Formats: sequence, structure tokens, C-alpha cells
Amino acid sequence: MDLGIKGKRALVCASSKGLGRGCAQALAQAGCDLVLNARGSDALEATAEAMRACGVTVTAVAADITTAEGRARVLNAAGPVDILVTNAGGPPPGMWHDWTEADFLKAIGANMLTPIALMTALLPGMIARKWGRVINITSQSVKAPIAQLGLSNAARTGLTGYVAGTARQVAPFGVTINNLLPGIHDTDRAHALDSGVMAKQGITMDAARALRAATIPARRYGTAAEFGAACAFLCSQHARYIVGQNRLLDGGDTNGTI
Ligand code: NAP
Repeated sequence: MDLGIKGKRALVCASSKGLGRGCAQALAQAGCDLVLNARGSDALEATAEAMRACGVTVTAVAADITTAEGRARVLNAAGPVDILVTNAGGPPPGMWHDWTEADFLKAIGANMLTPIALMTALLPGMIARKWGRVINITSQSVKAPIAQLGLSNAARTGLTGYVAGTARQVAPFGVTINNLLPGIHDTDRAHALDSGVMAKQGITMDAARALRAATIPARRYGTAAEFGAACAFLCSQHARYIVGQNRLLDGGDTNGTI
């Protein structure tokens, strides 16, 4: 399917690895020029080089997207952007009684206020050009809480509330905002969570993965490529009537009728 976005300029945050990289890859395959970002430059440069093989231009900016200084550098390098994919690392797991105000402020800064700041900076240009797409990578924890990820549950639900209203305010101008909600995907983040299970239960990594996979109706982890394909579709011309939605990509893990 021709997604109709060849030549669009896409900023994909936190995209040297994992789900962000999957989104960047699918957008590059659709012909989008890319601005990529991550903190570490080695993996970022390697990813940028791999994306150039699709014949698109790629700008890589090594910066912490959760800081004002990092965002300013990314936005300066990006210039006008048609497609924004927001992403950053997720907060650590833990127990409710251990989380301090500082922990909450860090999670809210990274997973709520950072995407809001990026949208605030880039939505005016999209509105002026009468075309834009924003995809926020959030989590299945927005639909069904994951108890040990309370910092994530709190911050991402705040972002979801913001998007619900703002998506309706920008839709008249040809700009759509939607959220993608990953369940478990085979990335470093999943590996880190499984390492915790492995240590806590004294089992091997394979056993920890098998335990988790057995709880998912699809009986496996998702892939970054599958996730990226869904992202690219939501950014496509065909998705212009999809506004303010929260799309689960979780192999059926979140139990619900609607
Ligand atoms: P990942 O494999 O660990 O990759 C994270 C990517 O983001 C890396 O490229 C990393 O590069 C970059 N990054 C992290 N923090 C950054 C920052 N502050 N500024 C700029 N770049 C940053 O993670 P993932 O699995 O793709 O997860 C992406 C998001 O989805 C996370 O918020 C995660 O919590 C959420 N999520 C993931 C899953 C899953 O199963 N994978 C499920 C639910 C939700 P550097 O380290 O070099 O910066």
C-alpha cells in the first residue's frame, strides 16, 4: 500500500533502538526524510546509516529529549516537521511506598511534559501547513494499570488526557494526534523488565520470557517492525479520519470487549 507520505519530514524521538527505531524504519520505507534522536551517539549513528539505505535524508541529533536543552537542539536541527513521533525511556518499576515526589516529577517530565513540549513547539507549523501527524508512544498501562509501573501509569495517563482534548482542537486543520499503546515487545526495555523477574524469582531469562509470553493471547512478544508498521499507517494519508485514539498493540493482552 502506498502510504502517501513520501517526502514528508518526520522527527522520531528516542529512535536509535527498540520501538522508536521500528517507527523510523517504517517511515523511511514510506519515503519520509528523518530526524532521529537518542542520547548515545554510537547506536544513533548506526541507525541513521541503516535508514539512509532507504534513500531518504537522515539527520541524527544526540541529545536527552527529556531536557529543555536537548529538545531545543533537536528542534533546531529538525526545522519544519510534518510527522512527530514522541518517545523516551520508561520509568523504572517499583512499589508505591518507595516513590518520592522527585521520582514522580522525573516520570512526568519524561513521559508527559516532554511530548507536550514537543507538540507545543511543532503543532503551529503543522496547522499553518494544514497537514500534520503526531504519534505518542505510551503504554498498555494507560488502559489497564501495571501495578509495579505506577510512575509510568501516572505520567502516561496524564499525557493521554491532554491528547484527548488537544487532538480535537487541531483536527480542523488537517492535523491528527493519536497514541500507540505497546504491550510487551522484544526490545531492551522488555529485556530489562525480564531481568527483574529473573532476579526476583531466581529463574533463567528464557524462563522469565516464557512465563510472560504464556500470559499473552498471541503467545509471543511483539516486534519493533510490527509496531513501526502500525505507526506508519497512522501517519499515512489513509488515516486522516483517525483522531485522538489510543491504539493497543499488545497481542490481545489487555482484556476488554472495547
Ligand atoms: P528501548 O528498547 O530501551 O529503546 C529506547 C530508545 O530510546 C533507545 O534508542 C534509547 O537510546 C532512547 N532513549 C531513552 N531515553 C532517552 C532520552 N531521555 N532521550 C533520548 N533518547 C532516549 O525501549 P522500547 O522498548 O523501545 O520502549 C520505548 C517506550 O515504550 C518506553 O517509554 C517504554 O517504557 C515503552 N513501552 C515499551 C514496551 C515494550 O515491551 N518494549 C511496553 C510498553 C511500553 P539512548 O539510551 O542512547 O538514549
